[in-house]
Amino acid sequence: MKAEELREKYFSFFKQKNHIIIPGASLIPEHDPTVLFTTAGMHPLVPFLLGEKHPSGKRLVNIQKCVRTGDINEVGDSWHLTFFEMLGNWSLGDYWKKEAIEWSFEFLTGKNWLAIPLEKLSATVFAGDKDAPRDEGSAKIWRKLGLPEERICFLPKEDNWWGPAGQTGPCGPCTEMFYDTGKEKCGSECRPGCGCGKYVEIWNNVFMEYNKNEEGEYRELKQKNVDTGMGLERTIAVLNGFDNVYQTELFQPIIKKIEALSAFRYPSFTAHCRIIADHLKTASFILSEKIEPSNVEQGYVLRRLIRRSIRYGRQLGIKDIFCHKIAKVVVDIYPELRKNQEFIFEQLIREEEKFEKTLKKGLKQFEKLARDNKITAEEAFNLYQSYGFPFELTQELAKEKDIKLNKRDFEKALKRHQEFSRIGAEKKFKGGLADHTEKTTRYHTATHLLLAALRQVLGSHVQQKGSNITSERLRFDFSHGAKLTQKEIGKIEEIVNQKIKEDLEVGCEEMSLKEAKKQGAVGVFEKKYGERVKVYTIFNPKTGEVFSKEICGGPHVKRTSELGHFKIIKEESPGAGMRRLRAVLE
Ligand code: ATP
Ligand code: MG
Repeated sequence: MKAEELREKYFSFFKQKNHIIIPGASLIPEHDPTVLFTTAGMHPLVPFLLGEKHPSGKRLVNIQKCVRTGDINEVGDSWHLTFFEMLGNWSLGDYWKKEAIEWSFEFLTGKNWLAIPLEKLSATVFAGDKDAPRDEGSAKIWRKLGLPEERICFLPKEDNWWGPAGQTGPCGPCTEMFYDTGKEKCGSECRPGCGCGKYVEIWNNVFMEYNKNEEGEYRELKQKNVDTGMGLERTIAVLNGFDNVYQTELFQPIIKKIEALSAFRYPSFTAHCRIIADHLKTASFILSEKIEPSNVEQGYVLRRLIRRSIRYGRQLGIKDIFCHKIAKVVVDIYPELRKNQEFIFEQLIREEEKFEKTLKKGLKQFEKLARDNKITAEEAFNLYQSYGFPFELTQELAKEKDIKLNKRDFEKALKRHQEFSRIGAEKKFKGGLADHTEKTTRYHTATHLLLAALRQVLGSHVQQKGSNITSERLRFDFSHGAKLTQKEIGKIEEIVNQKIKEDLEVGCEEMSLKEAKKQGAVGVFEKKYGERVKVYTIFNPKTGEVFSKEICGGPHVKRTSELGHFKIIKEESPGAGMRRLRAVLE
């Protein structure tokens, strides 16, 4: 079975069970600045799992593209990828364990569906602990469906429990479904859930039935939800009798291309090929979101993936620039990438050329530094600063030589450097944020209008990356992959000036950071804010309509009519994946 057939079957099965197909969300979370990528199908649906009404109803089905950077060290094994697709069906306070498990079983074993023989399947369920009882309900359903007792395994919280996402909130037990690859057991303790590779987890049903409260107690929830996730790549692999995901049609052409480009077989040739294939696929999908390689956030992860691929590529004897050649094969597999393919190829070429310039020198420098079997945080920082080695790359090189490197020390070195450059910047801009004159206060409010207008015109991926205000102008950095057109600039100016004309009111409220997030306030959600934050809202006092809501320390004007006329005077890029605007109030 091919991936496309599995996607179609999944949709048609759950449509039959009265589910509505909803689109997957963006790979870059839109409303949650606390995580860089969407890591599971449930992630974009959190508000609805918390009780918000979903416009499509209570039974939903979708496919969600996921990126899990947390699995990067697993990549190279048979089953873990950094990019994969998750098929999911959802009950928002509707059906419960019986239907969910029975339907999973029907889809997996049904003749018209996946037709997996019963002997191949096993399940794990929650064993119970002081917080919540053993999930006998799920186990009973599995027994009734014909799973023998020895293939229903009870496991603790680490394995069979989900959530809550934060300190408090909905959570509950899950039941995971495994496919037996037929391999020998790794020992007498080997059973479903064992990490040896005999049992592959293909699907997970989460039953959100508890709310963990501030006291740490687990109370039954009123709205109980079902959240399921089935891995597309793993499932087609096992359906075809493959013992790893790289044999599927979603990877074979990529692997073949890497083999064709390689000059020699390295000792760990297979793992190298897999890592390159995985990473460049993930990089292609991140690039298709118009993220550029950089030293911050998503751009940093992207850079890490590309540079790691390049290093492994060189070890396989690939001498020429090659990442874009692999990406071309990725685009052939996923037609949806075609739309932004030029951007993907261009960025890969640029990043590889950039890294190429310093890679050899950096490796030489590393060898020199490692001679005394020790690398200090400052040295790692220098490799990062001067040779573009992401910390993790240095760490990986060090590990090969049995040298330990601590990320926290590196971060300290990085911070020292950043503080240093910030002090420099503050010196340069004397009239910075500390200067609360009438003029700077006006610029401050204009900055909020600008951010809201940018998000309207360019999209909600736009996030503030930096701001600097003097009494003469504002400077604003934000995440966006492309140069702004004259038309976009005109539109942004128009919106800001319109809002100034409407004489909106600026209100301020104090609340917890959590509440601010809940209300959809934008802003830099970093530790530098205390638990309680100030939220400034710019709204129409007559209609109550909110134009902007931001976490911010202030100060601000009372009414937007105080601002005067807003004009953008310069647009440029301060670094990859970012744009910088300068604007004045006339
Ligand atoms: P594992 O224990 O194998 O890492 P998980 O428990 O982290 O899996 P879930 O978070 O339950 O997985 O995700 C739901 C499904 O998504 C899994 O059953 C699996 O099919 C798939 N999946 C999870 N992580 C990966 C990955 N890194 N690569 C490919 N598929 C994955
Ligand atoms: Mg995992």
